Amino acid sequence: MSADCIFCKIIKGDIPSKKVYEDDDVIAFHDIHPITRVHFLIVPKLHIESLQTCEAQHQALLGKILLLAPKLAAEQGLKGFRTMINTGREGGQEVFHVHVHVFGGGESLPRI
Ligand code: AMP
Ligand code: ZN
Repeated sequence: MSADCIFCKIIKGDIPSKKVYEDDDVIAFHDIHPITRVHFLIVPKLHIESLQTCEAQHQALLGKILLLAPKLAAEQGLKGFRTMINTGREGGQEVFHVHVHVFGGGESLPRI
């Protein structure tokens, strides 16, 4: 838990979110600025800054998050989706609590 981290505040319930899923390890909620019809974030409850600070001990947690992505995407009605992990300032990361974006819906996403 990090006192000035917005996602830790969401996990604690101090900031409201549109929750998609929650268990002991993970929370998922809709992105406040969706880039597609469906756009949510899967976030470990453990405060880890980014993929760059993940370690071997986080392997199972990261695997759990990736396996949740298709399950939650299907529950949101998506037939396909894109995942994204922005990492470090150069990687476009704005919130320094590691998270996976899951988004899609409607038209095919453009190639990147
Ligand atoms: P990034 O760190 O670049 O992966 O981006 C962080 C994402 O968190 C952005 O897409 C924001 O729209 C989203 N975000 C920031 N604050 C909130 C919030 N309070 N609730 C939901 N999503 C948020
Ligand atoms: Zn945090």
